[in-house]
Amino acid sequence: MAAGAAVPWARPSTGPGREAARIVDVACVRLWLAEVAGSLEAERDFLTQLDAAIGDADHGINMHRGFTAVMRRVGGLDAATPGQLLRTAGRTFVSTVGGAAGPLYGTAFLQAGEVLDDGDTFGPRRLLDAVRASLEGVQRIGAASEGDKTMVDALAPALAAYELELRTGGSLETAVRAASQAAGDGARATVPMQARKGRASYLGPRSVGHQDPGATSTALMFAALERAVLADRSQRFAAGARPRGSRP
Ligand code: ADP
Ligand code: MG
Repeated sequence: MAAGAAVPWARPSTGPGREAARIVDVACVRLWLAEVAGSLEAERDFLTQLDAAIGDADHGINMHRGFTAVMRRVGGLDAATPGQLLRTAGRTFVSTVGGAAGPLYGTAFLQAGEVLDDGDTFGPRRLLDAVRASLEGVQRIGAASEGDKTMVDALAPALAAYELELRTGGSLETAVRAASQAAGDGARATVPMQARKGRASYLGPRSVGHQDPGATSTALMFAALERAVLADRSQRFAAGARPRGSRP
């Protein structure tokens, strides 16, 4: 189902447990960035091998370099909001990563950071807007559609699955799980596609039969988001902490 399809928003649940499930704060965003950095380090060689097959064998190196710089930069920001962290991540990516991935992911992070603005916390609907802004930013500068064998083939289905889960009454947790699953499925679905954008498109039909590296790194980011949200939740409950108010 496409994003924005006519499924009515489920009536929001209430109660303290439900409220805690709705909130993402700066600690969770930091956890997510750390999870992404760890995952890109672990999968650096795999991403580079994927890019060796249909590109120039640098995607893992690019992403790892970019995220190492991001972690250094955000580590020095003490009292940042989630939006400031993501805007910093975006600017860092643009300035440290060359090739296609630098400006594309840089824009995605910047756009998400703009949507989150300077609030201390945000809820699942705001996260939906942030992911949508990321996709729009990527498509504005890269002009790729679904089926072109790019990161859009993981990002667009992740957005659609996240939105559908929220609209049908799911929680933040179930929505990020659905997004992660859809992004992974989307990345795997790039294997039979012929690339129509980016360096892989130069190969024409020879790009068929390989998984797209950018769709794969996007799937890693959504898997990291799911882990961060779940880990953050268990930490909150273990600490018995009550969350602060959320923004819709
Ligand atoms: P480069 O191709 O410049 O070496 P990377 O290897 O870091 O850059 O990134 C390659 C990935 O970038 C591709 O696997 C693809 O997912 C993504 N990509 C390339 N061009 C576009 C585009 N126009 N729109 C969206 N994603 C793109
Ligand atoms: Mg490359």
